[in-house]
Amino acid sequence: MSSLPVHRCECARCRAHKPYSDRAYHHHINLFLSCLNEPQRRWFAALEAMRIGHGGKQLLAEITGLAPMTIRRGCRELKAGLASCPGGSLHAPGGGRPVAEVRDPELESAVEHHR
Ligand SMILES: [Zn+2]
Repeated sequence: MSSLPVHRCECARCRAHKPYSDRAYHHHINLFLSCLNEPQRRWFAALEAMRIGHGGKQLLAEITGLAPMTIRRGCRELKAGLASCPGGSLHAPGGGRPVAEVRDPELESAVEHHR
């Protein structure tokens, strides 16, 4: 049922053909992305990029073949609660607006320290 061919990671380390601990992970990212629609792909890439932090968008662009601009757009949309995106009709029709961003300073600093 995978209609899309799975993108091959193009990050420098995977291309080096040396043992690399994240190679399987990069492949799994692309495998997963091949099952998603376009907005979902950029949201997942954006999520991963944000998790990695500095250089994350560039790396995710290399892994997924998505344009860095597309990933940046995904980040913006995620931060906006996926409120105004075309493929974002995940919320039930007429089901009201997404809850305003809830910020928990304690949790956020915990996440920061966890890196
Ligand atoms: Zn890779």
